[in-house]
Amino acid sequence: MSDPFFHPVSGFDLPRFAGVPTFMRLPHVGLEDPRLGEVDIGLIGTPWDSGTTNRPGPRHGPRQLRDLSTMIRAQNGATGIRPFEQVNCADLGDVAPNPADIHASMDRITAFYDTVRNAGIVPLTAGGDHLCSLPILRSLGKAAPLGMIHFDSHTDLFNSYFGGTQYTHGTPFRRAIEENLLDPKRVVQIGIRGTAYDSEDHDFAESVGVTIIPIEEFHARGPEDIMVQAKEIVGAHPTYVSYDIDFVDPAFAPGTGTPEVGGPNSFQSMLVARLLDGVNIAGADLVEVSPPFDQSGGTAFLGVSIMFEMLCNMATCMSS
Ligand code: MN
Ligand code: MN
Repeated sequence: MSDPFFHPVSGFDLPRFAGVPTFMRLPHVGLEDPRLGEVDIGLIGTPWDSGTTNRPGPRHGPRQLRDLSTMIRAQNGATGIRPFEQVNCADLGDVAPNPADIHASMDRITAFYDTVRNAGIVPLTAGGDHLCSLPILRSLGKAAPLGMIHFDSHTDLFNSYFGGTQYTHGTPFRRAIEENLLDPKRVVQIGIRGTAYDSEDHDFAESVGVTIIPIEEFHARGPEDIMVQAKEIVGAHPTYVSYDIDFVDPAFAPGTGTPEVGGPNSFQSMLVARLLDGVNIAGADLVEVSPPFDQSGGTAFLGVSIMFEMLCNMATCMSS
């Protein structure tokens, strides 16, 4: 059971629109806080989008995700899971990036997650663009390569952009596999679609053993069957979960830089996160929410709803 200090502020006690917005109304416990060692799951913002090649804005994601996360209540409506009572959850704040220096920013993110990992905390991250996942994996995958369940409309497995730039939000998992942070045979990418530059990313995936499940197969087989296969691919070993909000159809999640039509609806998008039950989750992220394109806040609300589903499975995994 969790320490009541780490329980979120209830909407019965303080209206949801009042107070300082932390992730899911949890206490803020910074890296210097003496309570850091008591935290089991840390929610972290990575307000950085310098890897973006198209429409920008995810640097503003953590702030809007925190705001909309005040809508999240303590109990999962479908499963009955009450994650904040199972383990100690806290908002660990944001990693401070250097928006003018990609490598300095990545080093800062890795150092932040080294501190988190050394404190025994499992991180749940709000991006930021998808390049944020690489410096996180440089920390979490350092000891041994991780498996990964990756929801996205893109593989993010390209080699380079603009004549040789190797670090963009279209390349993080190519780099992570090259750096031996991910075991490609335990990586599955779900929802891939859209027009393409070429097949270089798919060719790389095939050459190293990454499983790609295109959106046509997702719709034909359904979320339940797809997630059974995904869990078989990653097995019982530690697994990272990376969730790009552009996995979702832009009718439900327009607030992102690189939308692709033909995706899952909001219910299916939450369901796949709920069906991560039983996965040995070493860390998870929700990336690519771009508030300038999310004028209703609906994309951010769906994003934090997906984060809550992931959190429920992380808490259950850690307390069992
Ligand atoms: Mn992506
Ligand atoms: Mn994407």
